[in-house]
Amino acid sequence: MYKLHFDENICKKCPTGDCLIKCQYLDIEKNQVKDEMVKIAQGKDSFVLEQCVTCYGCEEYCRRGNHPFYLITEKRDEKGILTSPRAITKQWINIGEPRGKYQLGEIKEKILSFGFMPEFLDMVKGKLFEDLMPSYVFGQEFFCNVVYLHFANTQIIKQRLPMVVENFRKLGVEEVVFMHDECYGAFSSLAPAYGIEVPFKPIHYFEYLYQRLKDLASDIKPLNINVAYQRPCSSRLSPDKHRYVPKIMNLIGANLVEREYQDENALCCGGIFAMDYGYSLAHDVQEKNLEDMVAHGAEYCVFNCPACQNTLGEKVRKRGLKPIHMVDLCRMALGETPKMEE
Ligand code: SF4
Ligand code: SF4
Repeated sequence: MYKLHFDENICKKCPTGDCLIKCQYLDIEKNQVKDEMVKIAQGKDSFVLEQCVTCYGCEEYCRRGNHPFYLITEKRDEKGILTSPRAITKQWINIGEPRGKYQLGEIKEKILSFGFMPEFLDMVKGKLFEDLMPSYVFGQEFFCNVVYLHFANTQIIKQRLPMVVENFRKLGVEEVVFMHDECYGAFSSLAPAYGIEVPFKPIHYFEYLYQRLKDLASDIKPLNINVAYQRPCSSRLSPDKHRYVPKIMNLIGANLVEREYQDENALCCGGIFAMDYGYSLAHDVQEKNLEDMVAHGAEYCVFNCPACQNTLGEKVRKRGLKPIHMVDLCRMALGETPKMEE
C-alpha cells in the first residue's frame, strides 16, 4: 500500500510552524504548532483533526517538504473523522467511479486532459489549442480523485489514482496538459507524496497558455480591464504555477487588482464549505471575498476551476462583476469571443 511521505523530525525542528500559523480557519499559537503536527503524525488526537475545513492551504504554507494537509486527511480517515455526512460522501464517491464511458480524442505523444470536467469539452477550442486538439481525454477513467481530500477519504484516492495513472500509461503518452488545476496537483504533488510513479510529464494549463499567448502575441488586443482572480483550493498543491497568473494577465493587458484575499491569503470559493461545514461558514467566506473584489475595483472575476465558477459565478454577477474562466478571458484577448456586456 502506498505510504505518505511525512517526516515528523522536520516538524520538531521547524522554526516557523507556518502550516497552521498561516491557516485562515484555525486559531493556534506558534508554540503549539510543532506539538500538534507531531501528535498527528504519531496517530494521536488533535483539535486540528476536528476543526480543519480542508482549504488545502497548509500544503502551500509548509516550505520544508512536508505534507501537512495530506497528513491531516490521512489521519482523519484512519480515525473515521468524517468531514461530511456519510450519505453525501458516498454520493460523491459514486460520481467518480469509473464506468467505462470515457472519451478519447486522437491520441498523440502530447495530449490534453479534461479530467471529469465537462465544461472543458466546449471551452477548449480556437488558436490557443489548435496544435493539440482534438487530442484529449475525458471521463472518470482519467479523473484524479483529489476531491476526496475534502471528504477525508485517502483510501479511495490510493485505490483509484494508481488505476488512473495506469490508464494514462496504456495510452503511451509522454506529456499531458491538465486543464483541471486539481488533476495537475494530483500528478505533480499528491502522487509523488505517496510514492506513486507518474509515467508522463504533467503540464499545468497556465504554463501552456502562457507559452501559446507568447507565440500569438501579434494577435493579442490588450483587454484594458480590471480583474480579480479566484484562486482554487487545488492551486495550493502547485503554488509554483500560481506565478503564471500575473504573467498571463500582463500578456493580455488585464490589470490584476491588488486585493487582500489573493495569493497566499486567497479565500476558498465556499462550495465545499456549504456541503461540509454549513452555509454560515460558506456565506461568511464568500461575502468577505466578494466585498474585497468590489472594493478594489474589479470588473471581471477570473476563474481557474470550473467548480469555483459554478459556485461563485452567479454571486459575482449579482455584485456587478462578470464571471469568466481564464481560457475564455485569453480567447477574448485574441478576439475570438466578444467582451462581456454590462
Ligand atoms: S508541516 Fe511544515 S510548516 Fe508545519 S510544523 Fe511541520 S515542517 Fe513546519
Ligand atoms: S487545510 Fe486549511 S483549514 Fe485545514 S489546517 Fe490546513 S490551512 Fe487550516
